[in-house]
Amino acid sequence: MNDGLIYLDNNATTQVHPEVGAAMEPYLSGGLYGNPSAGYRFGKQAREAIDGARSQVAALLAVKPEEIVFTACGTESINSALHSALRCFPERRHLVIAAGEHSATEKPCEYLESRGYRVTRLALDGEGLIDLDELEAAVSADDTALVSLIWANNETGVLAPVEAAAEIVRGKGVLFHSDAVQAVGKLPLSLADSAVSMLSLSGHKLHAPKGIGALYLNQRARFEPWLLGGGQEGGRRSGTENVAGIVGLGQAAELLKNALDNEGQQQHLQKLRDRLEQALLDRVPNTLVNGHREQRLPNTSNLCFEGVDAEGLLILLDNAGICCSPGSACGTGSVKPSRVLTAMGFSPARSRSSVRFSVSMFTREEEIDRTVEAVEQAVNKLRVTLPSGGGPVARHT
Ligand code: PLP
Repeated sequence: MNDGLIYLDNNATTQVHPEVGAAMEPYLSGGLYGNPSAGYRFGKQAREAIDGARSQVAALLAVKPEEIVFTACGTESINSALHSALRCFPERRHLVIAAGEHSATEKPCEYLESRGYRVTRLALDGEGLIDLDELEAAVSADDTALVSLIWANNETGVLAPVEAAAEIVRGKGVLFHSDAVQAVGKLPLSLADSAVSMLSLSGHKLHAPKGIGALYLNQRARFEPWLLGGGQEGGRRSGTENVAGIVGLGQAAELLKNALDNEGQQQHLQKLRDRLEQALLDRVPNTLVNGHREQRLPNTSNLCFEGVDAEGLLILLDNAGICCSPGSACGTGSVKPSRVLTAMGFSPARSRSSVRFSVSMFTREEEIDRTVEAVEQAVNKLRVTLPSGGGPVARHT
């Protein structure tokens, strides 16, 4: 169907793993369509499938199955965490997030600000890192309802020191949530003894389908549901369950746990990412890496090709059958510079010259090599047509 396509946009979404599709099939078109809340055996088959998937997702995070709540997507999980904290602590009017959060966190926070809440956004340094001292100073035991930090940035892949941050926040008696949509499945995360109270993940970023997500909810954390209705998911998320999606997420979680346990997954991703990045740095002059070189996801490379319009570059790559993204996929079509790169102190010009490549378990070396060729050619072509010749851009705004 997509012969010859080279898909290097796995932070936007991923291919459903064939084993995930096969596990879902009985619940999609194989006749197992019972309602998991029904009392007869046909319904109980669906209930058992959900319970199995809950255990698989819990195992990936090293938590208890009853601490996993299935939702429709990462965005829903994040929104429920934010709103739950505010409802559990109505007297508290303050939230702490990082400056480069995904819009699934940033937008609800902007809305809450418009309703009179205070939001502190922790600064990012030039490599995309936050400062734990700034976090400690920002959290007020009396007024902060929640601290929410993105574990791995979707644009740069840069990691937050989540475990240490969660400890600081717990010490002040405040709830801690992490948007781990990009981290889960790419890094081994064990929440067994962690101070993280809530964590959001999304199926379509880890080879399960779109339309399924989960919220980890520590059994000691207070929680108020966001969706009210039939009381599914132990009353924590009403709505008839997406059985096939849940089964798919469970299967993907099991596959990734096995892959991460033997370290093969991370090594594979990093080898391919480094091959791509190093070749582009070597072969394309005036190429810069956006974000910390070590403290980042193994699959993500965000590169600035100085003086080159990323939109133009992406069109040429698209013509060559290569998919990658200008910063965040959710920002595609907008002319605004990336919020993340801006927060890191980069100029609008640097943002507009930056492209994100993100590999997956399905990426092959030969695809990386073809991409390097194509990028080199496209950048040369675009630089020749530039009046300035595509010289270096200013680093800071
Ligand atoms: N958080 C991060 C870091 C993401 O990358 C995304 C998706 O792009 C989301 C949240 C939203 O997840 P979903 O698409 O499942 O709503």
